[in-house]
Amino acid sequence: MHHGPLLQYMQTLAGLSERAIIYEYARSHEQRPLVHMIITSAENHRTLEQIRQQHLLLADPARSAGVDISQMPVVVRLGYGVHGNEPSAHNAAPLVAYHLLASNSQEVLQMLDKTIIIIDPSLNPDGQDRFASWVNRHRSRILNPDPAGREFSDVWPGSRTNHYWFDLNRDWLPVQQPESQGRIKEYHRWLPNVNTDHHEFGANSTFYFQPGVPSRGNPLTPKRTDELTMEVARYHARAFDKVGQLYYTEEDFDDYYYGKGSSYPDVHGSIGILFEQAGTKGHRVETVHGVVDFSETVRNQVIVSFSSLEAAYDMRLTLLDHLRWFYLTGVEEARKLPLQAWVFGDNYDQGRNYHFLEMLQTHQIEVFSLKENLKLSDYVFKPGSSWLVPLDQPQSRLVRSLFEEVLEFEDSLFYDVSTWTLPLAFNLPYGEIAGARQLSAAKGDLLTSLPELAGSVEGGSSGYAYVFAWDDYYAPKALYYLQGHGLRTRVATQPFSMKMGNEERVFGYGSILVPVQMQDMDPARVFELMQQATNLAGIKAFAIETSLSSHGTNLGSSALVTLRKPEILMLVGQGTNSREAGEIWHLLDQRFDMPVSMVEVGRFNNLDLSRYNTILMVSGSYGDISQGGRESLDRWLRNGGTLIALGNANNWLERSGLAKIEFVKVPEITDPVMLPYADRSRHLGARRNPGSIFRAKLDITHPIGFGMRQETIPVFISGNTFAMPDSSAFANPLIFPENNLMSGYIFEPYRPMIENTAGILINSRGRGNIISFLDNPNTRGFWFGTNRLFMNALFFGPIIRR
Ligand SMILES: [Zn+2]
Repeated sequence: MHHGPLLQYMQTLAGLSERAIIYEYARSHEQRPLVHMIITSAENHRTLEQIRQQHLLLADPARSAGVDISQMPVVVRLGYGVHGNEPSAHNAAPLVAYHLLASNSQEVLQMLDKTIIIIDPSLNPDGQDRFASWVNRHRSRILNPDPAGREFSDVWPGSRTNHYWFDLNRDWLPVQQPESQGRIKEYHRWLPNVNTDHHEFGANSTFYFQPGVPSRGNPLTPKRTDELTMEVARYHARAFDKVGQLYYTEEDFDDYYYGKGSSYPDVHGSIGILFEQAGTKGHRVETVHGVVDFSETVRNQVIVSFSSLEAAYDMRLTLLDHLRWFYLTGVEEARKLPLQAWVFGDNYDQGRNYHFLEMLQTHQIEVFSLKENLKLSDYVFKPGSSWLVPLDQPQSRLVRSLFEEVLEFEDSLFYDVSTWTLPLAFNLPYGEIAGARQLSAAKGDLLTSLPELAGSVEGGSSGYAYVFAWDDYYAPKALYYLQGHGLRTRVATQPFSMKMGNEERVFGYGSILVPVQMQDMDPARVFELMQQATNLAGIKAFAIETSLSSHGTNLGSSALVTLRKPEILMLVGQGTNSREAGEIWHLLDQRFDMPVSMVEVGRFNNLDLSRYNTILMVSGSYGDISQGGRESLDRWLRNGGTLIALGNANNWLERSGLAKIEFVKVPEITDPVMLPYADRSRHLGARRNPGSIFRAKLDITHPIGFGMRQETIPVFISGNTFAMPDSSAFANPLIFPENNLMSGYIFEPYRPMIENTAGILINSRGRGNIISFLDNPNTRGFWFGTNRLFMNALFFGPIIRR
């Protein structure tokens, strides 16, 4: 079903019944409304706000002890279709809603009296519509179940993801997409006791429901959560036994990563349940179980929706008590730890600080200002650019999962990544406060709003030049705006300092100079553009009146290199990684207001490349690039193009002879001649790098490292693509030293494979450069540390000399 009719149906239902209300909580990128329908008895609807307030008290350890739960309703959230191409999920929502509103059976009436049901009928409306449009336009009058049919294989980028090709079922923690931003806010308004998350897996499977693999749970999730999930599971089992449906539990999937819809609830005193139905991916399909109709898959999603409701109703008091217990014990455990708080913040980059705080606030984490300078190891945290997160707060378990570095694991298999330590992803300095006295000395006021990113041109209008530092995350936004309006700009490849009034201000590597006289417009217009650019980016620029610096290079020196505006082409389509492409599209379009031409690989061979100076190749096979296409790319490079390649796009570049890269061979592990066959998948799975964080050494004097102040940077790596450093000492701006694992899992014998390898390599070709990122610097839109290096490659790629 398309999203429009689904929405209309749900709205009509809500309008006809006093048991339901419906409201919009967010808009997708394509402006489709995301809604929640709340279903409960008419009586409960009259006091809904009081019920909600009372319910939230359970999560407040300071006040929850006195709450009488005996008459309180349990809150259940049914979430359908986070993946657009799993249609049995969102097609189940209207059936469930209809039954709950229309039935006058004793069972339903009793349930509604003691249950608040929140239906989220479609978590990903943009993906849903892509899918509905695909299968419906390939539907024949006589349904053909041949699985080879076009109907069953949605073209690139598929419809699992949202508008920018993000997997929304990984975004519950990073919350970089509007669907998740609205959803998490709404989640905290209700803190449901049970959360369902309806999915589909392969057509030849049966049905799966949680609990997941016991040894693969997150250690911060209490065992009691798993036990209750199991208790709920018995209801699904009973319901499926009755209709003869095969199913399994506990042998697959896990809730280790809290960024998924079934695991985020686990760290919020709730029971999150993943459902996986064997999907038909079309109207009717042949499977190992015979021919299956789409309607049968919807039926199963409806059945587990009701078994979940039945369980919640029966277990009401246990579940309400669990919510209270979860938050009480969270605080108790936190108080036993020697650690009091984390302090974090970058003294030079308010953009990254802002996004970090935004994330903490979305998750209802208490953050405090810093009262005075705080020196921890070598770093001085300063009020205004540093903040405190105490552990003694209701969200303590979530806080620990966001800040802790994890190096010990019960299991070596992960359904998703093994770590997401947030300050590392943001490359923010952070430290621990261990003593209560130190904490009270440092702790200021509770943060209630985000700091404003105010832009300004200090010193007003200049007839000579303006300069701004490259420290702030949003400096590239200002630079692109100026370039886009035709201003000539230069970048400092050596630092300098200028006297500004009584102050001496240091401008580091990557500072941007905008001369006034060398432009094709008058000084008043230059000033106007400077004001607009700094406001847009929320950064400070400075008016200057001389080329003569007080220290370092002078502004007319050749150490200040003229820049060109990036004209960007990104290859997309069949055979390329849509996730990586989507992350770049989102990064440039949403954060930096930069256009990118996304061109199908199949068109590349005959494309005139002259209008682009930057080409992006995300991971992919690129088998469709012909010899002619390769030659045209080579000519374009020799003419001064900048090619930026991610992940295994580098394998293609190496094979095609355009770049010299020596990949590291995965070490051969000699197994005993015979191992138990039953352990096969576990044995092989343990070698997979699920995604871990490694320390890299960064050359901050290299254009790739411009704007960074620390010579190490955390890098996220998933997979086993590593390369030897180049023979030129200036072509390896990012190197992994020894002992580099910061957080996450790695198969022990693979450790040496990463040591002394290069994370970024520079190859040159005529006047052009190839910049190879061996992994993906833009993971899931929240790797604000390494995506700065990617932005540097875009702007400074052309000025790099090997
Ligand atoms: Zn799914």
